[in-house]
Amino acid sequence: MTRPNSILVTGTVAFDSIKTPLAEMDEILGGSATFFAMAARLFTTVQLVAIVGNDFPTHHLKMFDENGIDLQGLVRAEGSTFRWKGEYEENMNVRHTLETHLNVLEQFDPVLPPDYRKSKYVFLANINPDLQLRVLDQLESPKLVCCDTMNLWIIHQRSDLEKVLQRVNMFIISEEEAFMLTKRTNIVRAAHEILRLGNFSLIIKRGGYGAILFTQDKQIFAIPAYPLENVVDPTGAGDSFAGGFMGYLASNDSLDLEAIHRAMVYGNIIASFSVEGFSIEKLATLNRETVRNRLSDFLRMTHLVPTAVHVE
Ligand code: AMP
Repeated sequence: MTRPNSILVTGTVAFDSIKTPLAEMDEILGGSATFFAMAARLFTTVQLVAIVGNDFPTHHLKMFDENGIDLQGLVRAEGSTFRWKGEYEENMNVRHTLETHLNVLEQFDPVLPPDYRKSKYVFLANINPDLQLRVLDQLESPKLVCCDTMNLWIIHQRSDLEKVLQRVNMFIISEEEAFMLTKRTNIVRAAHEILRLGNFSLIIKRGGYGAILFTQDKQIFAIPAYPLENVVDPTGAGDSFAGGFMGYLASNDSLDLEAIHRAMVYGNIIASFSVEGFSIEKLATLNRETVRNRLSDFLRMTHLVPTAVHVE
């Protein structure tokens, strides 16, 4: 069997402190690249390009390694790991950032190991757009580059973000960020405006309401979220969605519209597991069979055309 394409991700590896209406957790493993990698590892090898401080425990590194996540691109530097604190309202689709401490991220200068430069599938997870650009500059000939961002970068580094958008094939953001980018409050209008910033397709994530794809040739594909009775912590849902989405595409090595639709369904299902626990606790226990079962349920509920399951 040929090995599926690996995926390179750059983003944050973090300690998160999270407050939900029901619970509060301090300094748990988080970060955009962490959630992405733990989702995408269900499909293929993930090359992690990120920085942590010397306060980052080795048991987390071991956990990444045991999950097939390649750590050659992970720098361990003097100083503290990136930290983020967020709070969810009663309606868990609404979140407030309380604190962001960049710490070692401020000194991060990503240098890709030689075989990472050849990566075909690349995810620029939420991180400073200037770092996303530095990673992009080192890639030889990627086939699919997707990116994400967040309010902090939309406000403070918009021009770098717009440079990134000129160079990606797919932009995945939350509805709130889409509205912030465009100052619109209608999702279709916001999408059309964002599409003008480059030549990418756009996926707007709508939390508990699903996700919508908008393409440059004005095609739209919308899926609902998998209905859940217990949402424990939505943190990382977007990154887990992206991990499932890109994992599916990389392992099938196809970028036609149908494959993109199927990849959205995978992303959606994997994100639904992610939010059922804090940190990566649910993602870490996921396997092919659990994903396949929920995927079948989802297809039944939505009457979507059955999708072949290829979770390696
Ligand atoms: P999501 O819920 O998908 O938006 O991702 C949340 C994750 O992003 C958390 O685990 C945070 O550690 C991380 N994060 C929060 N703010 C930032 C930021 N400004 N840049 C990069 N990562 C961040």
